[in-house]
Amino acid sequence: MTADVIVIGGGVIGKTISYTLAEHGVAVTCVGSSYAAPGTASTAAGAMLGVLGEVTATAASPMDETELGFRAAAGRRYPDFAARLAETSGVPIPLGMGTFVVGTTVNEADLDNLAAIRMAARNQGLPCEQVDHRNVPGLRPARRHEPLGVLHLAQEGFLDSWQLMESLQVALEKLPTASLVTADATAVEVEHGRVTGVRLRDGSFLSAGHVVLANGVGAQPLLDQLGDLPGTLPRLLPGKGVSLVLDRVDDDFPQVIRTPNRDFACGSHVVPRGGGAVYLGATNRVSSTPGSGAEVTPGEVHSLMHSLMHEINVRFRTASLASQRYGLRPLTSDGYPLIGATALAGLSIATGTYRNGILMAPAVGEIIAAVICGDQPSLINPFAPDAGFRSANAAPEVTDILDEGLRHLVSFLLEPGGHMPYDRYRELHTFLTHLARLALANDAQAESMREEIRRMFRDHPVPEMLPQLFYRLAAQQPVQQP
Ligand SMILES: Cc1cc2nc3c(=O)[nH]c(=O)nc-3n(C[C@H](O)[C@H](O)[C@H](O)COP(=O)(O)OP(=O)(O)OC[C@H]3O[C@@H](n4cnc5c(N)ncnc54)[C@H](O)[C@@H]3O)c2cc1C
Repeated sequence: MTADVIVIGGGVIGKTISYTLAEHGVAVTCVGSSYAAPGTASTAAGAMLGVLGEVTATAASPMDETELGFRAAAGRRYPDFAARLAETSGVPIPLGMGTFVVGTTVNEADLDNLAAIRMAARNQGLPCEQVDHRNVPGLRPARRHEPLGVLHLAQEGFLDSWQLMESLQVALEKLPTASLVTADATAVEVEHGRVTGVRLRDGSFLSAGHVVLANGVGAQPLLDQLGDLPGTLPRLLPGKGVSLVLDRVDDDFPQVIRTPNRDFACGSHVVPRGGGAVYLGATNRVSSTPGSGAEVTPGEVHSLMHSLMHEINVRFRTASLASQRYGLRPLTSDGYPLIGATALAGLSIATGTYRNGILMAPAVGEIIAAVICGDQPSLINPFAPDAGFRSANAAPEVTDILDEGLRHLVSFLLEPGGHMPYDRYRELHTFLTHLARLALANDAQAESMREEIRRMFRDHPVPEMLPQLFYRLAAQQPVQQP
């Protein structure tokens, strides 16, 4: 069997690329497992089309600003994309509009994140209004969890990811130049420095002049087999996310309600599903060991429900639990999407969309279709495999990564519930940050501090000295305020 293009991956990215290519009249074969396969990120997603809602107060790098602009461009494309797709498939994709972002006392960073969202809205020219929490439909927090502030993002969209996936599936079945193969790709075959096609698990071979790796975290094992051929690419890490659907919810949720991003995750959020159902998301745990944790655990459900029942709506506890899913978000080791032609002739890649793949899919589809058809894309692609920011020199210092990571880690350790007495949150953060620096730094100051600690435990060899060390380091020098 021969196609012009084989797209590996049956999630939102693979199917949207296949659909966009077929719209251009390209003979395309989409090879993938069913979109209902366990671990598929696209069907574990809600989904929010989160442009501003994903903004945080973390020191934004120029690439973060670029990614925000890309998300905004992707968001503007959605209404036209959804209308075209629905017309082709006959399966409507109702797009909802409007998101409330709720900042609470549970997380130290919430108010800073709301301020960062307001600033980003101004820069992007998008509407963002402060509202009274008593006027937010569906917001019914537990006592002592009343919000400190709520923003309304009138142009932030949302949809049902299952409707989107169903619409893509039917459209691909209808479009004359598209075909779907439900199978696992085990290798991308190369001859004389050029891609020739794809080997499937049953041993059969599909030939094509162009292959697109769009199978989320599943792209990494295929890349590993190719060694350095596709050039130096960031590695893919799975960010496991758990989500739930509730039925028979007593309150109406006409729009999304969410907290800001926090504790390494995309905040707690409620996406309307209609007919008394809501989608609840999401946890996030990134791992360097793909395949680990392939199930939904009681701990994940507990942490999600604790936050949503206390901060968003107490009535969730008497609703009916209709389904639970997990998905593996594709995160690149440099943190940004990976979209475009690789250094290996005939091989493109489209992944790394992490928390925003549903939003980014139409934009990614356009970029890859332009690469393959040799057209000028109608939007700039900042995330090509050879983009300048990916060079090793641009990698942040380990200590900077730890500073940021430890802030989230301390906040994550406080979940569910979110509180420590006195000023312990900052003390613990400062203590851990200095410990991490002591473990990693080679300078004279770090060595003299390590010697002081060794002396402390040599002269007073009792565990009871630990509180003194805690306060010694926690008081040493403040770390950046969360
Ligand atoms: C809980 C959760 C909530 C999220 N919420 C949002 C949100 O609100 N908004 C948003 O924009 N994004 C959200 N995301 C992120 C978004 O879902 C992802 O960025 C996006 O779905 C990635 O799509 P994908 O097609 O690359 O990967 P996937 O959806 O994971 O699809 C990859 C597919 O390829 C298949 N595959 C893997 N290897 C092979 C192989 N060798 N051969 C054939 N098939 C293979 C897999 O089985 C899978 O079906 C969320 C993710 C999660 C997990």
